[in-house]
Amino acid sequence: MTPSPTASAMEASKSLSSDQDRPFIWIDGELLPKSQATVSVFDHGFLYGDGCFEGIRVYRGVIFKCQSHLDRIYRNAEALRLEIPYSKQELARIMEECVAANELVDGYIRLIFSRGVGTLGLNPFACPKPGVIVIADQIRLYPEEMYQDGMRVVVAKRPRTPTACLDPALKSLNYLNSILAKIEAIDAGCLEAIMLSTDGYVGECTGDNLFIVKDGVLYTSPLEVGMLDGITRAFVINEVAPACGITVTEKRLKIDDVLSSDEVFLTGSAAEIIAVTQVDDTKISDGQGPITEKLRDHFRSVVTGDNIPVD
Ligand code: PMP
Repeated sequence: MTPSPTASAMEASKSLSSDQDRPFIWIDGELLPKSQATVSVFDHGFLYGDGCFEGIRVYRGVIFKCQSHLDRIYRNAEALRLEIPYSKQELARIMEECVAANELVDGYIRLIFSRGVGTLGLNPFACPKPGVIVIADQIRLYPEEMYQDGMRVVVAKRPRTPTACLDPALKSLNYLNSILAKIEAIDAGCLEAIMLSTDGYVGECTGDNLFIVKDGVLYTSPLEVGMLDGITRAFVINEVAPACGITVTEKRLKIDDVLSSDEVFLTGSAAEIIAVTQVDDTKISDGQGPITEKLRDHFRSVVTGDNIPVD
């Protein structure tokens, strides 16, 4: 029997709710006020970053690309040999209930699978029960004006972890490689950093995928360079660009390709599509370029429209 928030829990969420309670968080079968939604210090997600997660958008109350996110997190859980006691269908329903309990119309879901409570030793198999958490809340990653004006990024000195060590496609609870590069970005006065593979190809940013535009064609490095297989990246390649009549080519990009491009933009569930106007000291474009604008406009029309894609 799947634990799920009961109708009375959802009613309680409405009548009891004060700002301190919100958001209500679904944690291992219960919908709890924020102050009570805690994890053990013996949880291996906390002790070792042993687990995986998803960041998912909600538009007009619909979980955007729900199936793709579930497919990715279950694939990652399998790679970690983490057995989740819910089916994808059950989890979709739990996320929907959490969105409803928080009366979320436009927002963001953080879905977390943790190894769960164990001992101080590393052994993941000493943790009998994985932790499953759903947080449904608001998100604003970048300031609104950046969507018109574009953003400045740096090239991180620290490369992406090589695939053979820890595949960047694994959206694990350990984001230290990204966090250390993010610190480089913040130290340089900006919010994102481009990360190269150890053999010098442009992979992705600390929390976003990257595209360039050159002579009207859209380019992005292939997944083999080592990056997260972004759901927004796939949406742009397979749906948004074709709908805008723009050709996409995957090729291993070097940083010089980025520096000599006409437009650069980033994609991510939280970021959506956002222009990059400067990389280190090199100016790329004045504000959001025309192709980025076309893609972003189409993207926004889909996610504010009546047929929000769920798979
Ligand atoms: N790369 C990294 C490292 C990320 O953390 C993310 C998500 N924030 C992305 C790319 C974009 O992926 P998605 O479009 O699936 O959100």
